[in-house]
Amino acid sequence: MSTSSKFVPILIGACLLSLVLSAPGADSASTSLRESLQARANQEYPRLFELYKHLHTHPELSLHEEKTGQRIAEELKETGFEVATGVGGHGVVGVLRNGRGPTVLVRTDLDALPVKEQTGLPYASGVRATDDKGTEVEVMHACGHDVHMTVLVGAARTLASVKDRWQGTLVMIGQPAEEKGSGARKMLADGLFTRFPKPDYCLALHVKADLPAGSVGTIEGYALGNVDSVDITIRGVGGHGAWPHKTKDPIVLAAETVLALQTIVSREIAPGEPAVVTVGSIHGGTKHNIIPDEVQLQLTLRSYSDEVRAQTIAAIKRMTRGLADAAGLPEDRMPIVTLEEKERTSAMYNDPALMRRVAGAFKKLFGEATVQAVKPVMGGEDFSEYGRTQDKIPICLFWLGAVNPDLVRESEKTGKSLPSLHSSQFAPLPEPTIKTGVMAMTGAVLELVGKNQ
Ligand SMILES: [Zn+2]
Ligand SMILES: [Zn+2]
Repeated sequence: MSTSSKFVPILIGACLLSLVLSAPGADSASTSLRESLQARANQEYPRLFELYKHLHTHPELSLHEEKTGQRIAEELKETGFEVATGVGGHGVVGVLRNGRGPTVLVRTDLDALPVKEQTGLPYASGVRATDDKGTEVEVMHACGHDVHMTVLVGAARTLASVKDRWQGTLVMIGQPAEEKGSGARKMLADGLFTRFPKPDYCLALHVKADLPAGSVGTIEGYALGNVDSVDITIRGVGGHGAWPHKTKDPIVLAAETVLALQTIVSREIAPGEPAVVTVGSIHGGTKHNIIPDEVQLQLTLRSYSDEVRAQTIAAIKRMTRGLADAAGLPEDRMPIVTLEEKERTSAMYNDPALMRRVAGAFKKLFGEATVQAVKPVMGGEDFSEYGRTQDKIPICLFWLGAVNPDLVRESEKTGKSLPSLHSSQFAPLPEPTIKTGVMAMTGAVLELVGKNQ
C-alpha cells in the first residue's frame, strides 16, 4: 500500500483525537476519547486486517521468526520509530521519543506453533517448516500472536499520530520464542533494558479463547503460572519377565512414583496455594516378557509462588529417590531427575496498582460491562520476565476477547467447550477483536503517558 493513500485518513484521525482529547469534563472527555479511538480504529482496520491475514498465512516457528520480525520492523519504521533488529535472536525494538515523561514498553510475541490449521478459514495457514529436531511440521498461529502483532502495529500508528497528546517514550518490541519460554530472557540478556530506554511500565495483551470479541479481561496479581518441565528416568535392573525376583522392575517403580507424586499437591502443598503436577508421558519397555532397564517420565509443573515451585521440585526429588531406595535400588541406579532450565516460564504477576490504572482506563473507554474480571490460569507467559529483573518494573498483561460472542453464549448454554489456545480449530474473530485491542492498548498507554490524564 502506498504512503499517500494512508495519509489523509491518518490526518483526519489525528485531528479528531486532538479535538476530543481537549474536551472539558472527565465524562465527556472519556466519551470523546472512545469515539475518536473508535473512529481511528475503523479507519486503520482495512490495512490492519490485511496485515493480520499476511501474518496468519506466514507463521514461523519459535526461534525462526526472521521474516515476521522484519515485517514488524518495517511497520514500526514506517510509523516513525527508530528500529533495531536481531535483539535476542529475531527480536525487534522500536523506540519513539516524544519529550520528557515516562517510558512505556509494549510487547508483542512473534512466534507460531507446530499445529496443522483446521479452521477452514479462507486465509488458513498452509505453511510447512522443519523444526529444530529436523522433522517437517505444519505451522499455525494457534496462540493468536498474529493478533497481538497486528494490535501492536495499530496502537503504534495511533499513538504516533497523536504525539501532541502525550509526552514520554514508547518502546515497542516484537519478542521471539514466547512458546519456548526463552525469548524474553534472550532479549533482556541482549540489553533490552540497557541498550534502549529502560521502561517505567511494561504492557502486553493476550487473546483469550473463551472471552467474547469486543471485550477485555483484567486481573490483579498472579495471572498465569510458573511452568516447569521435568524429566525423570526411573532406573531398574532389567531381565526376564518370568524371573522378576532376579530384577528390579522399573515399571512397577514408575507406577508407584506416578501415584506418589499425586500426593504432593493433595498432601504437602497448603490448600490455599494452587499447584499442578501432571505426568504427561510415560515410556518404558519393548515386549511382554522383558523387564526393562529404565522408564522415562515427563512432567509439567505449575504454581504461582516461587516458594511453592521450589517445594514441589524438592518433593519430586525426595519421593523418586525414596521410592527407589525402598525398592532396593543400589546408589548407582537411583532415578535421574532433570529440570528444564532454559525453557521454564516464571509466573506472570500483574502489578496491582498498574492493573487498576489500566482497568480504570478501560472502563472509561469501553464501559463497565465490556471489562471483565477474569480468574488466574495455569498457562505460562514469559512476559513475566520483564518484571523480574533487579529493577522490578511494574508490568501488566491483560486479556483480549477474541471469540465470536454467539459461540461463547452457545458454549455457556450447552457446556460444550470452545477450541482452546493452541487448538488447530482456534479461529479468532478479526473484527472487532483487532479494533478493540488497538483501542485498549492505545488507551492503556495514554493512561500512563497522556498529557491530560
Ligand atoms: Zn501459546
Ligand atoms: Zn501465546
